[in-house]
Amino acid sequence: MSFFNENMEAPLESVDGEIRALIEGELGRQRTHIELIASENFTPRAVMEIMGSVLTNKYAEGYPHKKYYGGCEYVEKIEEIAIERAKRLFGADHANVQPHSGSTANQAAYFTVMKPGDTLLAMRLDHGGHLSHGHPLNFSGSLYNVVSYGVNRESETIDYDDVARLARESRPKVIVAGASAYPRKLDFARFREIADEIGAFLVTDMAHIAGLVAAGVHDNPTKCSHFVTSTTHKTLRGPRGAFVLCEGRFAGDLDRTVFPGIQGGPLLPAVAAKATCFDLAMRPEFKEYGRKVVENASALCSALMERGFRMVSGGTDNHLMLVDLRSKGITGKLGESILGEAGITSNKNTIPFDPEKPMITSGLRFGTAAVTTRGMGPEQMTALADAIDDVLSAPDDTDKRREVRARIAELSAAFPLYESL
Ligand SMILES: *Cc1c(COP(=O)(O)O)cnc(C)c1O
Repeated sequence: MSFFNENMEAPLESVDGEIRALIEGELGRQRTHIELIASENFTPRAVMEIMGSVLTNKYAEGYPHKKYYGGCEYVEKIEEIAIERAKRLFGADHANVQPHSGSTANQAAYFTVMKPGDTLLAMRLDHGGHLSHGHPLNFSGSLYNVVSYGVNRESETIDYDDVARLARESRPKVIVAGASAYPRKLDFARFREIADEIGAFLVTDMAHIAGLVAAGVHDNPTKCSHFVTSTTHKTLRGPRGAFVLCEGRFAGDLDRTVFPGIQGGPLLPAVAAKATCFDLAMRPEFKEYGRKVVENASALCSALMERGFRMVSGGTDNHLMLVDLRSKGITGKLGESILGEAGITSNKNTIPFDPEKPMITSGLRFGTAAVTTRGMGPEQMTALADAIDDVLSAPDDTDKRREVRARIAELSAAFPLYESL
Protein backbone atom coordinates (compact mmCIF):
# COMPACT_ATOMS: atom_id res chain seq x y z
CA MET A 1 0.00 0.00 0.00
CA SER A 2 1.42 3.36 -0.97
CA PHE A 3 1.64 6.15 1.52
CA PHE A 4 -0.99 8.12 -0.36
CA ASN A 5 -3.43 5.24 -0.37
CA GLU A 6 -3.09 4.76 3.34
CA ASN A 7 -6.58 4.50 4.77
CA MET A 8 -6.97 7.25 7.34
CA GLU A 9 -10.48 6.07 8.10
CA ALA A 10 -9.59 2.47 8.91
CA PRO A 11 -10.59 1.35 12.40
CA LEU A 12 -7.95 0.28 14.90
CA GLU A 13 -8.74 -3.42 14.49
CA SER A 14 -7.57 -3.31 10.88
CA VAL A 15 -4.57 -1.04 11.57
CA ASP A 16 -2.99 -2.52 14.68
CA GLY A 17 -4.59 -5.72 15.89
CA GLU A 18 -1.84 -6.27 18.41
CA ILE A 19 -2.52 -3.09 20.41
CA ARG A 20 -6.27 -3.43 19.92
CA ALA A 21 -6.19 -6.94 21.46
CA LEU A 22 -4.21 -5.69 24.43
CA ILE A 23 -6.74 -2.89 25.05
CA GLU A 24 -9.52 -5.50 24.93
CA GLY A 25 -7.51 -7.56 27.38
CA GLU A 26 -7.21 -4.60 29.73
CA LEU A 27 -10.97 -3.98 29.55
CA GLY A 28 -11.53 -7.62 30.45
CA ARG A 29 -9.12 -7.32 33.38
CA GLN A 30 -10.90 -4.23 34.68
CA ARG A 31 -14.26 -5.99 34.42
CA THR A 32 -13.27 -9.23 36.12
CA HIS A 33 -11.00 -8.02 38.93
CA ILE A 34 -11.70 -6.02 42.04
CA GLU A 35 -9.80 -2.74 41.95
CA LEU A 36 -8.58 -1.66 45.37
CA ILE A 37 -5.66 0.54 44.28
CA ALA A 38 -6.44 3.77 46.11
CA SER A 39 -5.23 6.05 43.30
CA GLU A 40 -7.34 4.43 40.59
CA ASN A 41 -10.94 4.83 39.49
CA PHE A 42 -13.22 4.24 36.48
CA THR A 43 -13.93 7.40 34.54
CA PRO A 44 -17.32 7.77 32.82
CA ARG A 45 -17.71 6.81 29.18
CA ALA A 46 -18.33 10.48 28.29
CA VAL A 47 -14.88 11.38 29.59
CA MET A 48 -13.28 8.59 27.55
CA GLU A 49 -15.13 9.80 24.46
CA ILE A 50 -13.52 13.21 24.86
CA MET A 51 -10.12 11.60 25.39
CA GLY A 52 -10.46 9.83 22.05
CA SER A 53 -11.66 12.93 20.16
CA VAL A 54 -10.26 15.14 17.37
CA LEU A 55 -9.00 17.56 20.02
CA THR A 56 -5.79 15.54 19.91
CA ASN A 57 -5.00 17.17 16.54
CA LYS A 58 -4.84 20.73 17.84
CA TYR A 59 -2.01 22.85 19.17
CA ALA A 60 -3.01 25.63 21.59
CA GLU A 61 0.12 26.94 23.29
CA GLY A 62 -0.66 29.79 25.64
CA TYR A 63 -3.93 30.71 27.34
CA PRO A 64 -7.45 31.61 26.14
CA HIS A 65 -7.43 34.82 24.05
CA LYS A 66 -3.61 34.79 24.09
CA LYS A 67 -2.98 31.65 22.04
CA TYR A 68 0.09 31.46 19.82
CA TYR A 69 -1.64 29.55 17.01
CA GLY A 70 -4.65 30.19 14.82
CA GLY A 71 -7.77 28.08 14.77
CA CYS A 72 -8.18 28.10 18.54
CA GLU A 73 -11.73 29.47 18.61
CA TYR A 74 -13.25 26.21 19.84
CA VAL A 75 -10.47 24.93 22.03
CA GLU A 76 -10.00 28.20 23.88
CA LYS A 77 -13.71 28.16 24.77
CA ILE A 78 -13.22 24.65 26.09
CA GLU A 79 -10.26 25.75 28.20
CA GLU A 80 -12.18 28.76 29.54
CA ILE A 81 -15.05 26.51 30.59
CA ALA A 82 -12.63 24.11 32.29
CA ILE A 83 -11.01 27.01 34.19
CA GLU A 84 -14.36 28.49 35.26
CA ARG A 85 -15.64 25.13 36.44
CA ALA A 86 -12.48 24.34 38.40
CA LYS A 87 -12.73 27.73 40.13
CA ARG A 88 -16.41 27.22 40.92
CA LEU A 89 -16.02 23.63 42.08
CA PHE A 90 -13.28 24.42 44.59
CA GLY A 91 -13.94 28.11 45.29
CA ALA A 92 -10.60 29.29 43.87
CA ASP A 93 -9.47 32.71 42.59
CA HIS A 94 -7.50 31.18 39.73
CA ALA A 95 -7.06 27.81 38.02
CA ASN A 96 -4.57 26.46 35.53
CA VAL A 97 -5.94 23.31 33.89
CA GLN A 98 -2.97 22.52 31.63
CA PRO A 99 -0.64 20.39 33.80
CA HIS A 100 -0.23 16.94 32.25
CA SER A 101 0.17 15.15 35.58
CA GLY A 102 0.14 15.59 39.34
CA SER A 103 3.93 15.67 39.45
CA THR A 104 3.99 18.46 36.86
CA ALA A 105 1.33 20.36 38.82
CA ASN A 106 3.60 20.22 41.88
CA GLN A 107 6.56 21.29 39.78
CA ALA A 108 4.52 24.28 38.56
CA ALA A 109 3.60 25.35 42.10
CA TYR A 110 7.18 24.94 43.37
CA PHE A 111 8.78 26.75 40.42
CA THR A 112 6.38 29.65 40.87
CA VAL A 113 7.68 30.51 44.33
CA MET A 114 10.96 28.62 44.85
CA LYS A 115 14.50 28.81 43.48
CA PRO A 116 16.87 25.83 43.35
CA GLY A 117 18.51 25.42 46.73
CA ASP A 118 15.48 26.70 48.67
CA THR A 119 14.09 24.56 51.45
CA LEU A 120 10.98 22.40 50.97
CA LEU A 121 9.21 20.90 53.99
CA ALA A 122 7.00 17.95 53.05
CA MET A 123 5.84 14.57 54.28
CA ARG A 124 8.28 11.68 54.38
CA LEU A 125 7.69 9.26 51.56
CA ASP A 126 7.78 6.23 53.80
CA HIS A 127 5.10 7.84 55.98
CA GLY A 128 2.75 8.53 53.07
CA GLY A 129 4.25 11.41 51.06
CA HIS A 130 4.65 11.42 47.26
CA LEU A 131 7.79 11.18 45.08
CA SER A 132 7.31 14.81 44.07
CA HIS A 133 7.51 15.82 47.74
CA GLY A 134 11.28 15.47 47.81
CA HIS A 135 12.40 11.97 46.84
CA PRO A 136 16.14 12.07 46.06
CA LEU A 137 15.57 10.60 42.57
CA ASN A 138 12.80 13.11 41.79
CA PHE A 139 13.40 16.69 40.55
CA SER A 140 12.07 17.89 43.91
CA GLY A 141 14.78 16.03 45.78
CA SER A 142 17.59 17.17 43.52
CA LEU A 143 16.61 20.85 43.22
CA TYR A 144 15.63 21.64 46.78
CA ASN A 145 16.94 21.24 50.26
CA VAL A 146 14.32 18.78 51.49
CA VAL A 147 13.27 18.55 55.12
CA SER A 148 10.62 15.97 55.96
CA TYR A 149 7.96 15.58 58.59
CA GLY A 150 6.33 12.28 59.47
CA VAL A 151 3.72 10.74 61.68
CA ASN A 152 3.88 10.21 65.42
CA ARG A 153 5.09 6.70 66.30
CA GLU A 154 2.19 5.97 68.67
CA SER A 155 -0.80 7.62 67.00
CA GLU A 156 0.54 7.18 63.43
CA THR A 157 -1.04 10.54 62.64
CA ILE A 158 0.72 13.77 61.65
CA ASP A 159 2.28 15.45 64.62
CA TYR A 160 1.48 19.10 63.87
CA ASP A 161 3.64 20.36 66.76
CA ASP A 162 6.55 18.54 65.17
CA VAL A 163 5.75 20.07 61.76
CA ALA A 164 5.80 23.50 63.46
CA ARG A 165 9.12 22.76 65.15
CA LEU A 166 10.72 21.60 61.87
CA ALA A 167 9.34 24.69 60.13
CA ARG A 168 10.84 27.04 62.74
CA GLU A 169 14.20 25.27 62.57
CA SER A 170 14.51 24.89 58.79
CA ARG A 171 12.64 28.03 57.58
CA PRO A 172 11.28 26.40 54.39
CA LYS A 173 10.10 28.51 51.47
CA VAL A 174 7.30 26.00 50.85
CA ILE A 175 5.42 23.61 53.11
CA VAL A 176 3.52 20.81 51.39
CA ALA A 177 0.34 19.40 52.95
CA GLY A 178 -0.96 16.25 51.29
CA ALA A 179 -0.08 12.61 50.84
CA SER A 180 -0.54 9.46 48.81
CA ALA A 181 -1.04 7.07 51.69
CA TYR A 182 -2.47 8.89 54.69
CA PRO A 183 -5.80 7.52 55.94
CA ARG A 184 -6.75 10.51 58.09
CA LYS A 185 -8.16 13.98 57.51
CA LEU A 186 -5.61 16.76 57.07
CA ASP A 187 -5.81 19.92 59.17
CA PHE A 188 -5.20 22.54 56.47
CA ALA A 189 -5.86 25.47 58.81
CA ARG A 190 -3.12 24.24 61.11
CA PHE A 191 -0.71 23.87 58.18
CA ARG A 192 -1.50 27.44 57.14
CA GLU A 193 -0.91 28.73 60.66
CA ILE A 194 2.52 27.05 60.66
CA ALA A 195 3.33 28.47 57.20
CA ASP A 196 2.23 31.99 58.21
CA GLU A 197 4.31 31.95 61.38
CA ILE A 198 7.52 31.63 59.35
CA GLY A 199 6.39 33.34 56.13
CA ALA A 200 6.35 30.14 54.04
CA PHE A 201 3.96 29.32 51.18
CA LEU A 202 1.50 26.49 51.72
CA VAL A 203 1.11 24.13 48.76
CA THR A 204 -1.67 21.64 49.39
CA ASP A 205 -1.43 18.57 47.20
CA MET A 206 -4.96 17.11 47.19
CA ALA A 207 -4.26 14.61 44.38
CA HIS A 208 -5.80 11.74 46.32
CA ILE A 209 -8.68 13.47 48.05
CA ALA A 210 -9.88 15.98 45.42
CA GLY A 211 -13.08 13.98 44.82
CA LEU A 212 -13.82 13.91 48.53
CA VAL A 213 -13.24 17.66 48.74
CA ALA A 214 -15.52 18.22 45.72
CA ALA A 215 -18.19 16.06 47.35
CA GLY A 216 -17.89 17.95 50.63
CA VAL A 217 -16.76 14.96 52.68
CA HIS A 218 -13.28 16.37 53.33
CA ASP A 219 -12.38 19.97 54.28
CA ASN A 220 -11.59 22.14 51.27
CA PRO A 221 -7.98 23.40 51.39
CA THR A 222 -8.46 26.13 48.77
CA LYS A 223 -9.18 29.09 51.05
CA CYS A 224 -6.26 28.46 53.37
CA SER A 225 -3.59 27.42 50.82
CA HIS A 226 -1.47 29.66 48.62
CA PHE A 227 -1.54 26.89 46.00
CA VAL A 228 -3.58 23.72 45.64
CA THR A 229 -2.37 21.04 43.24
CA SER A 230 -4.33 17.97 42.21
CA THR A 231 -4.73 15.14 39.77
CA THR A 232 -8.11 14.60 38.09
CA HIS A 233 -7.97 10.79 37.75
CA LYS A 234 -8.08 9.58 41.37
CA THR A 235 -11.13 10.18 43.59
CA LEU A 236 -12.21 13.02 41.26
CA ARG A 237 -12.89 10.31 38.66
CA GLY A 238 -11.91 12.29 35.59
CA PRO A 239 -9.29 11.87 32.85
CA ARG A 240 -5.61 11.26 33.58
CA GLY A 241 -4.36 14.79 34.22
CA ALA A 242 -3.97 17.57 36.75
CA PHE A 243 -4.55 21.22 37.62
CA VAL A 244 -3.32 23.94 39.96
CA LEU A 245 -5.41 26.47 41.90
CA CYS A 246 -3.93 29.58 43.48
CA GLU A 247 -4.61 32.93 45.08
CA GLY A 248 -5.20 35.65 42.49
CA ARG A 249 -1.88 37.38 43.16
CA PHE A 250 0.06 34.32 41.87
CA ALA A 251 -2.08 33.81 38.75
CA GLY A 252 0.25 35.37 36.16
CA ASP A 253 3.38 33.78 37.61
CA LEU A 254 1.77 30.36 37.84
CA ASP A 255 0.52 30.49 34.26
CA ARG A 256 3.97 31.52 32.96
CA THR A 257 5.54 28.70 34.97
CA VAL A 258 3.28 26.08 33.37
CA PHE A 259 3.69 27.57 29.86
CA PRO A 260 6.28 28.36 28.61
CA GLY A 261 8.10 27.39 31.81
CA ILE A 262 7.71 23.63 31.94
CA GLN A 263 5.23 22.53 29.26
CA GLY A 264 4.56 23.17 25.60
CA GLY A 265 1.08 22.76 24.17
CA PRO A 266 -1.68 21.53 26.48
CA LEU A 267 -3.21 18.08 25.94
CA LEU A 268 -6.57 19.39 24.76
CA PRO A 269 -8.47 16.10 25.01
CA ALA A 270 -7.49 16.06 28.68
CA VAL A 271 -8.37 19.74 29.17
CA ALA A 272 -11.87 19.16 27.73
CA ALA A 273 -12.32 15.97 29.71
CA LYS A 274 -11.32 17.85 32.89
CA ALA A 275 -14.10 20.37 32.13
CA THR A 276 -16.66 17.56 31.97
CA CYS A 277 -15.20 15.93 35.07
CA PHE A 278 -15.56 19.23 37.03
CA ASP A 279 -19.15 19.58 35.87
CA LEU A 280 -19.99 16.03 36.91
CA ALA A 281 -18.36 16.65 40.30
CA MET A 282 -20.72 19.59 40.94
CA ARG A 283 -23.82 17.40 40.56
CA PRO A 284 -25.74 16.00 43.56
CA GLU A 285 -24.94 12.42 42.45
CA PHE A 286 -21.25 13.12 42.99
CA LYS A 287 -21.87 14.25 46.59
CA GLU A 288 -23.60 10.93 47.10
CA TYR A 289 -20.67 9.15 45.45
CA GLY A 290 -18.14 10.83 47.77
CA ARG A 291 -20.22 9.96 50.81
CA LYS A 292 -20.39 6.32 49.71
CA VAL A 293 -16.63 6.12 49.03
CA VAL A 294 -15.96 7.10 52.64
CA GLU A 295 -18.73 4.85 53.95
CA ASN A 296 -17.26 1.90 52.03
CA ALA A 297 -13.74 2.63 53.24
CA SER A 298 -14.92 2.65 56.79
CA ALA A 299 -16.92 -0.57 56.28
CA LEU A 300 -13.95 -2.37 54.68
CA CYS A 301 -11.61 -1.08 57.37
CA SER A 302 -13.85 -2.20 60.27
CA ALA A 303 -14.47 -5.57 58.67
CA LEU A 304 -10.71 -6.13 58.30
CA MET A 305 -10.12 -5.08 61.91
CA GLU A 306 -12.82 -7.53 63.07
CA ARG A 307 -10.85 -10.21 61.22
CA GLY A 308 -7.72 -9.40 63.19
CA PHE A 309 -5.86 -7.00 60.87
CA ARG A 310 -4.05 -4.03 62.37
CA MET A 311 -4.78 -0.81 60.49
CA VAL A 312 -2.27 2.03 60.53
CA SER A 313 -3.62 4.81 62.81
CA GLY A 314 -6.45 2.47 63.85
CA GLY A 315 -8.83 3.30 61.01
CA THR A 316 -9.66 5.70 58.20
CA ASP A 317 -11.44 9.03 57.66
CA ASN A 318 -11.14 9.05 53.89
CA HIS A 319 -11.10 6.68 50.92
CA LEU A 320 -8.02 4.67 51.86
CA MET A 321 -6.48 2.51 54.54
CA LEU A 322 -3.12 0.93 55.28
CA VAL A 323 -2.99 -2.63 56.55
CA ASP A 324 -0.04 -3.74 58.67
CA LEU A 325 0.62 -7.34 57.58
CA ARG A 326 3.23 -8.15 60.22
CA SER A 327 0.66 -9.92 62.41
CA LYS A 328 0.01 -12.30 59.50
CA GLY A 329 3.73 -12.92 59.10
CA ILE A 330 3.80 -11.84 55.45
CA THR A 331 5.26 -8.87 53.55
CA GLY A 332 3.44 -6.31 51.42
CA LYS A 333 5.14 -7.70 48.34
CA LEU A 334 3.80 -11.21 48.97
CA GLY A 335 0.38 -9.86 50.00
CA GLU A 336 0.04 -7.88 46.78
CA SER A 337 1.03 -10.88 44.72
CA ILE A 338 -1.29 -13.47 46.30
CA LEU A 339 -4.26 -11.08 46.35
CA GLY A 340 -3.53 -10.48 42.67
CA GLU A 341 -3.76 -14.22 42.00
CA ALA A 342 -7.18 -14.17 43.63
CA GLY A 343 -8.36 -11.30 41.41
CA ILE A 344 -7.97 -8.47 43.92
CA THR A 345 -5.70 -5.65 42.74
CA SER A 346 -3.92 -3.61 45.42
CA ASN A 347 -0.46 -2.28 46.09
CA LYS A 348 2.24 -2.94 48.62
CA ASN A 349 2.96 0.13 50.72
CA THR A 350 5.39 1.08 53.45
CA ILE A 351 3.84 1.56 56.85
CA PRO A 352 5.28 4.21 59.20
CA PHE A 353 8.62 3.04 60.64
CA ASP A 354 8.52 0.03 58.32
CA PRO A 355 11.30 -2.47 59.05
CA GLU A 356 11.16 -3.70 55.43
CA LYS A 357 12.67 -2.05 52.34
CA PRO A 358 10.42 0.03 50.02
CA MET A 359 10.37 -2.75 47.39
CA ILE A 360 9.21 -5.29 50.00
CA THR A 361 7.24 -3.36 52.67
CA SER A 362 5.09 -4.56 55.57
CA GLY A 363 1.84 -3.06 54.35
CA LEU A 364 -0.87 -2.96 51.76
CA ARG A 365 -2.88 0.09 50.72
CA PHE A 366 -6.57 -0.34 49.90
CA GLY A 367 -8.91 2.34 48.54
CA THR A 368 -12.62 2.30 47.74
CA ALA A 369 -12.97 4.91 44.98
CA ALA A 370 -13.13 2.34 42.14
CA VAL A 371 -15.35 -0.28 43.81
CA THR A 372 -17.77 2.48 44.81
CA THR A 373 -17.95 3.66 41.19
CA ARG A 374 -18.94 0.09 40.28
CA GLY A 375 -21.86 0.42 42.66
CA MET A 376 -20.65 -1.72 45.54
CA GLY A 377 -21.75 -0.98 49.09
CA PRO A 378 -21.02 -2.05 52.67
CA GLU A 379 -22.33 -5.59 52.07
CA GLN A 380 -19.75 -6.13 49.31
CA MET A 381 -17.07 -4.60 51.56
CA THR A 382 -17.72 -7.37 54.07
CA ALA A 383 -17.46 -9.97 51.30
CA LEU A 384 -14.17 -8.37 50.20
CA ALA A 385 -12.81 -8.40 53.76
CA ASP A 386 -13.60 -12.13 53.90
CA ALA A 387 -11.85 -12.71 50.58
CA ILE A 388 -8.79 -10.68 51.64
CA ASP A 389 -8.63 -12.48 54.98
CA ASP A 390 -8.93 -15.91 53.34
CA VAL A 391 -6.04 -15.16 50.99
CA LEU A 392 -3.70 -13.39 53.40
CA SER A 393 -4.25 -15.88 56.24
CA ALA A 394 -3.21 -18.82 54.04
CA PRO A 395 -0.33 -17.55 51.88
CA ASP A 396 0.72 -21.10 50.91
CA ASP A 397 -2.74 -22.31 49.94
CA THR A 398 -3.13 -22.07 46.16
CA ASP A 399 -6.45 -23.96 46.23
CA LYS A 400 -7.85 -21.34 48.57
CA ARG A 401 -6.79 -18.61 46.14
CA ARG A 402 -8.51 -20.42 43.29
CA GLU A 403 -11.69 -20.64 45.34
CA VAL A 404 -11.50 -16.91 46.22
CA ARG A 405 -10.81 -16.10 42.55
CA ALA A 406 -14.13 -17.73 41.66
CA ARG A 407 -15.94 -15.67 44.33
CA ILE A 408 -14.31 -12.48 43.02
CA ALA A 409 -15.35 -13.34 39.45
CA GLU A 410 -18.93 -13.73 40.65
CA LEU A 411 -18.84 -10.47 42.60
CA SER A 412 -17.38 -8.64 39.57
CA ALA A 413 -20.05 -10.06 37.29
CA ALA A 414 -22.76 -8.76 39.61
CA PHE A 415 -21.41 -5.19 39.16
CA PRO A 416 -20.92 -4.82 35.41
CA LEU A 417 -18.50 -2.22 34.09
CA TYR A 418 -18.67 -0.31 30.79
CA GLU A 419 -21.50 -2.47 29.44
CA SER A 420 -21.83 -0.25 26.38
CA LEU A 421 -18.24 -0.81 25.26
C1 LIG B 1 -0.72 10.62 42.56
C2 LIG B 1 -0.08 11.75 43.26
C3 LIG B 1 0.67 12.72 42.57
C4 LIG B 1 1.16 12.58 41.16
O1 LIG B 1 0.38 12.27 40.17
P1 LIG B 1 0.93 11.79 38.74
O2 LIG B 1 -0.18 12.20 37.86
O3 LIG B 1 1.13 10.33 38.85
O4 LIG B 1 2.20 12.53 38.45
C5 LIG B 1 1.14 13.81 43.27
N1 LIG B 1 0.90 13.94 44.57
C6 LIG B 1 0.22 13.03 45.28
C7 LIG B 1 0.00 13.24 46.74
C8 LIG B 1 -0.28 11.90 44.65
O5 LIG B 1 -0.92 10.97 45.36
